[in-house]
Amino acid sequence: MADQRIYNFNAGPAALPLQVLEEIQSSFLNFDQSGMSVTEISHRSSYFDDVINDAVERAKRLLNLDERFHVLFLQGGASLQFAMIPMNFLSGDDKADYINTGTWSTKAIKEAQIQKKNFSVVASSEDKDFSYIPKDIEFSKNAKYVHMTSNNTIKGTQFHEFPDTNGIPIVCDMSSDIFSRPLDMEKFGLIYAGAQKNLGPSGTCMVIIRQDMLDMANENLPSMLKYDTFASKNSMYNTPPCFGIYTIDLVLKWIEDQMGGLEKMEEYNIKKADLLYDFIDSSELYRTTAQKYSRSLMNVTFRLPSEDLEKQFIGKAIENGFGGLKGHRSVGGCRASIYNAATMESIHALVQFMTIFEKENK
Ligand SMILES: *Cc1c(COP(=O)(O)O)cnc(C)c1O
Repeated sequence: MADQRIYNFNAGPAALPLQVLEEIQSSFLNFDQSGMSVTEISHRSSYFDDVINDAVERAKRLLNLDERFHVLFLQGGASLQFAMIPMNFLSGDDKADYINTGTWSTKAIKEAQIQKKNFSVVASSEDKDFSYIPKDIEFSKNAKYVHMTSNNTIKGTQFHEFPDTNGIPIVCDMSSDIFSRPLDMEKFGLIYAGAQKNLGPSGTCMVIIRQDMLDMANENLPSMLKYDTFASKNSMYNTPPCFGIYTIDLVLKWIEDQMGGLEKMEEYNIKKADLLYDFIDSSELYRTTAQKYSRSLMNVTFRLPSEDLEKQFIGKAIENGFGGLKGHRSVGGCRASIYNAATMESIHALVQFMTIFEKENK
């Protein structure tokens, strides 16, 4: 029942819009008058064609993509992209630049390393435990791409502007902030996002790739590891993650029809994050972990004065219907993930709870 749902601040898999869940529920037994659920329909049927084409069209409209861009749905999560990117775009002496802003960027770098590819880490915020976003980065002249992570889900930092790379295409892991704001797509050769933060169920990865990146990709790769395999078959070389694509389509529809597009989505996200950050800044119990100009609008990471108190806070929160506030196991502390689907109402409720907890623990 909808009224038994908690305030869900999970980092991923994360909350989806209630309207989307209700639509899935109501259409599940008989999808589009087919007499079947969407998980029982052939991916080669016209029913599923409509779903995948609608999802692609919506993604293109929301991001103002022109005909150079392909919208793909792959499997293997965002993590497979860490390996596929150097595999597809670097050969021989080709070189790439990487920006290291946290756990996920580090994992992407590791996959280039494993394949013994040629790359440089041109900027890193590791010196201060990834609490900030590096600025004034110098890029290599001959890099084929610059890899970066737009939003650092675990450390709670986010690029609010994308660096000027002198025309080198940016390849960006946007797993935790895709469709949270408008993007100037001119800068990007490829963006990708595991679905479970801001788009839908885990396992599906959305990849948006520009034709010139496809053109420079390596030929001699296994089919399932080549972008072109998916680009030339509308993501249906093999059976695609049908339920994931269907859910993503509904989420994109929700962004377009209910939220009013990406400008409005961004305004809403700023309002939500401001409410929470302003409260934390004014409090004497809580403090954020990220440097102010680098703070994420999606993942608000914060600490209390002791680990013991953090444990009490998280326990009390669960008792009061607030889930997912525990920080990532690698960093500890607390984290409220407030992706697109988090409502203003849920942030108000959280601030109210945090205020009471502070009064009780002075
Ligand atoms: C969650 C996350 C990933 C990993 O996604 P998987 O789908 O589990 O592979 C990668 N990058 C970022 C930024 C993430 O938030």
